Amino acid sequence: MPGERRQQLIDTALAMNRSGINQGTSGNLSVRSGTGMLITPSGIPYRALALEDIVYVDDSGQPDGARQPSSEWRIHHDIYRQRKDAEAILHAHPTECVALACMNRAIPPFHYMVAVAGGKNIRCAPYATFGSQQLSDHVLQALQDRKACLMANHGLVCLAGGLEQALSLAIEIEQLARAYLRCLAVSDPVLLDDAEMDRVLLKFKSYGLQD
Ligand code: 13P
Ligand code: ZN
Repeated sequence: MPGERRQQLIDTALAMNRSGINQGTSGNLSVRSGTGMLITPSGIPYRALALEDIVYVDDSGQPDGARQPSSEWRIHHDIYRQRKDAEAILHAHPTECVALACMNRAIPPFHYMVAVAGGKNIRCAPYATFGSQQLSDHVLQALQDRKACLMANHGLVCLAGGLEQALSLAIEIEQLARAYLRCLAVSDPVLLDDAEMDRVLLKFKSYGLQD
């Protein structure tokens, strides 16, 4: 069904805002589609979205649709080009992640679940104006060997094998950001060392695979 992917995109965007990690017209969501991508339009509340509002952007960055693609289409486009493991991409402004990002702070290995993003920390990409190529370049760099990064003075980007997984990852990272900020309010948390994070990353390769 041609509209099925578009509906999944809208449903996930609505679920993202319902989950509390995003609000209003902040954030954007995309899914790989053939050699291009389907992406949410710019500045339209998710509750008002119809299937035809979703924009197809081809592999050269050319949009095809009645609406303008998200102002962050470059981030999504550049990630799909570089990352074969990306089938869906989520950008949001979750409060706890935003608080850390406004201090330009990465999330260190204060909890083993930091490995859920694929490495020993969750980096914070340097600031650049929203919608700029420079912001995309910074994000791509911060995502090296990672499935998520914070964006300084802005928010969070996650990539995953599907829309549902991208949303789960974002919710997990928001929870980590909340816990890390709670630690910082009391003192600097004890960090797990490199060897332990290596063990955790190895275990994560088979975690949840029941057979
Ligand atoms: P769009 O509405 O253009 O997707 O922008 C929202 C946003 O979060 C920009 O960073
Ligand atoms: Zn944003």
